[in-house]
Amino acid sequence: MAYTVLARKYRSWTFDELVGQEAVATTLKNAITSGRIAHGYLFCGTRGVGKTSAARIMARSLNCLASPGPTVSPCCECESCTSISEGQDVDVIEIDAASNTGVDNIRELRSNTVFRPARSRFKVYIIDEVHMLSTGAFNALLKTLEEPPGHVKFILATTDPQKVPATILSRVQRFDFRTISVDKIAAHFDAILKKEGIEADAAVTRRVARLANGSMRDGLSLLDQLLAMGSGRLTLEMIEDVLPTPHDEQLMRLIGQWADRDAAGALTSADTALAAGYTLERLTESLAEQVRMLMLLHICGDQTELIDVGGAVRQEMAALAKRFEPEAFVYMIAVLEELRRNVRFSALGRSLLDATMVRLASAVSYRSIQSLLEELGGAGGAPVANAAVPAGRPAAGAPQASVRSASAPVATRAASKPSGGSSEPAPRSTPAASVPAPAARRGAKPASQEDLRYARSEPVVREALDLFGGTLINVERVGQARADQPTGEADEDVSNGTDTEDKG
Ligand SMILES: [Zn+2]
Repeated sequence: MAYTVLARKYRSWTFDELVGQEAVATTLKNAITSGRIAHGYLFCGTRGVGKTSAARIMARSLNCLASPGPTVSPCCECESCTSISEGQDVDVIEIDAASNTGVDNIRELRSNTVFRPARSRFKVYIIDEVHMLSTGAFNALLKTLEEPPGHVKFILATTDPQKVPATILSRVQRFDFRTISVDKIAAHFDAILKKEGIEADAAVTRRVARLANGSMRDGLSLLDQLLAMGSGRLTLEMIEDVLPTPHDEQLMRLIGQWADRDAAGALTSADTALAAGYTLERLTESLAEQVRMLMLLHICGDQTELIDVGGAVRQEMAALAKRFEPEAFVYMIAVLEELRRNVRFSALGRSLLDATMVRLASAVSYRSIQSLLEELGGAGGAPVANAAVPAGRPAAGAPQASVRSASAPVATRAASKPSGGSSEPAPRSTPAASVPAPAARRGAKPASQEDLRYARSEPVVREALDLFGGTLINVERVGQARADQPTGEADEDVSNGTDTEDKG
């Protein structure tokens, strides 16, 4: 017996079976029972969330031969109901706009709309990926949508409603399909496995549901792949074999390396992941998802139900999340999204990925400007007094730089390892670029060119300037008192443009 893929075998037949789209189902059912059926609908949503299923259910509800009129409970057995499910009904015409984008296709459709349906009440046109139509085709479609014959209904579906012209949007009823929650997808899988008589480790359906990314169809095809692996129990190991996705642990190690500012480690971890068969895109997406979960843990608390992770993994993740400021998550996700978009179209995908690893590992231990200033400003004293000097490095008489940022940044890096690392041969003096107290600043003499050049050559100053796109506006010599301070880690504190002296 030929194997029927799960997505087809367990396709929803009625509105009540439509998983995860309760709001859409209720509204459409109400339209049918009240007899207020529009002549055009637009179903929007990402792939695999049930748009085509809903369109077919709608067609079945309109045309079920066992009912004297449109019904919310089609029989699912009559000729009309069953042939709609196969996409082969004479009166329910499915068009894939992705491969029929031309104006001629739509003109042909238009000329056919004048004919009455062969055996059902309505002629239903389901146009999938409607945003792919050419401008000419849209115009032709518009004419039909303006004055459709009473026996014609249009159901348009799209993953990209932004690309559907406003003239079309204004003539249809729009429904937005949500991505389906992990819970609902997992529960659906559990039910399917039960019907199929297949046992699975408890975590399997949830893991598959998570990998499905809100798409029932993607989840079901992954489940198909697992079932194809053979008889017996479904295990988590099987998922790894079928769809190599970076483990949580691998992702956590990589993100931890960013926090450690360990670029070499991050590059190695990325290489290991790619060698194991993960694609650039999947690695990037998985990292972004992991960062997102860390962000939710950080902001909503360790016990948040917004993420679906349990036990020991959750504890580890919460600990990692605490190593970052909220702004750092925003930054990391933005950088990863940029990477994801770029690797898709670039032949240099691997280079871009590696560059991103270095970028995130060298800039990610973020602290917000605010928290920095608070810490430095402490008891309201001069922030300079709190700046620490790195251990074993001379500080007396070294020029100290004030850095002005060109734009207000979201985050800065601080309290990290001195940049360059301890292996750097050349000894450095005070790398503390700090915000002098206004009082100190007023009495300060303008810096000599030599001091300015010296300050600009300081790695930490350069880094701070790069990070904020800032300009070096002055350098002040720090008195002997600075050298007597206890030594500590290098701090960078950078003005965010709040001081009033301005040289551009
Ligand atoms: Zn029927």
